[in-house]
Amino acid sequence: MTREELLKLQEKKFKRIMKLAFGTPLYSGKFKEAGLRPADITSIKDLDKLPFSSKQDIVKDYRAAIADPNDLSVFHTTSGTSGTPTVVGYTNNDVETQISNETRNILTAGFKKGDTVINTSMYGMFFAGICFHEAVRRIGAVVVPSGKQATGRQQADMIHFYRPNGVIGIAQFLLKWASLYEEMFGEDPRESSLERGYALGEPVPEVKRKLIEDVWDIDLRIGYGLTEVGSGGECEEKFGVHWLEDLSFVEVIDPETDERVPEGERGELVYTTLSRTGTLAIRYRSRDSSYLVSGDCSCGRITRRVMPPEYRLDGLIKIKGTLTSPFAIDSAIFSYKGVRDYLVVVGEDSSGLDRIDVFVDSDSLTPSQLESLSDRFGGKLWFNPSSVKVVEKDSIPVIGRKGKKLIDLRAEGDYGDELNTFLEKYGESFD
Ligand SMILES: [Zn+2]
Repeated sequence: MTREELLKLQEKKFKRIMKLAFGTPLYSGKFKEAGLRPADITSIKDLDKLPFSSKQDIVKDYRAAIADPNDLSVFHTTSGTSGTPTVVGYTNNDVETQISNETRNILTAGFKKGDTVINTSMYGMFFAGICFHEAVRRIGAVVVPSGKQATGRQQADMIHFYRPNGVIGIAQFLLKWASLYEEMFGEDPRESSLERGYALGEPVPEVKRKLIEDVWDIDLRIGYGLTEVGSGGECEEKFGVHWLEDLSFVEVIDPETDERVPEGERGELVYTTLSRTGTLAIRYRSRDSSYLVSGDCSCGRITRRVMPPEYRLDGLIKIKGTLTSPFAIDSAIFSYKGVRDYLVVVGEDSSGLDRIDVFVDSDSLTPSQLESLSDRFGGKLWFNPSSVKVVEKDSIPVIGRKGKKLIDLRAEGDYGDELNTFLEKYGESFD
């Protein structure tokens, strides 16, 4: 398909989707409020006229965004990265569309017929597990549906037992399993059967990608997507995910002015679904901050690339008066060699000031390097940790489904007994 043909296809699909959108309670209400009639929106060029939609709209009433409630086949929810899960209804068409989306993504990422792929993404209310499961089968590869096993040891064991050459999962866990693999089998993970990986669910700094590629001796590609819209995967350029523009339209806006920014400039990613007939997303504000990579790609694909977002606009946290993101902390800590895992805990000291305690799992970091870790931390992030401690191997608790690395004790929320036990042992500053 040429770029021109793609734009033509988008135009055709957009008209159909607008017809459906005018039939939903959510969008017809919004359009009416904006004084729009169907005749006002005749081309994708009119997209700017349409009001935005958001997660809050779907959370408020998920049924109101569904085009054809009688044709639904399954409900899934978003991972709930921030707050309440968002319910997305899929028709059979949508399920097929999303599986074909992920099939194209893993092909883009170098997965092949004949591969054996361990799918460690979660099966259940999240679509990723089932979707990648089917996608792997569709490329003619064998899937090992390990899902979310209770422990990292079980995953390492399955990698050793089934000898997959591909793995799909969360980057931080891929890193963790490498040291477990080595410990359990006395084998260098570089000698394992794994050749390639597909990381999803979390932003991955380049230093961390290189680390994972190095410990396992694999080619690691990154995927990014939203349950409400669709997804993309990296090609061999490893510079942005190819967005499947026949399935959804992507634009970037200035989150302050709500105006579209020129291509290549950073802003909030906004999506419009073009193929789905269950839950529709029309000018859906993702709150993800990133940019589009302009120009042709050396791989020859004609789709534009979305740089995987480093942070969510709602996901920044204020430490000592400065906004920071988990991604920035990840980049700072993994820029040091020999870090297996870490945890950053932000709390308050007795006088109510922020305190930041950093716990690092590493057997190669020395005390003097730890001093410079503080420097690096400060230099990159404009604040210094109150303390940096090296902890016992594999003692850092896995917080949440994706293994949260930045814990904000100032915010409400119970992080569980495992964290409390850990902090009792290592973080004497916390009650
Ligand atoms: Zn490419």
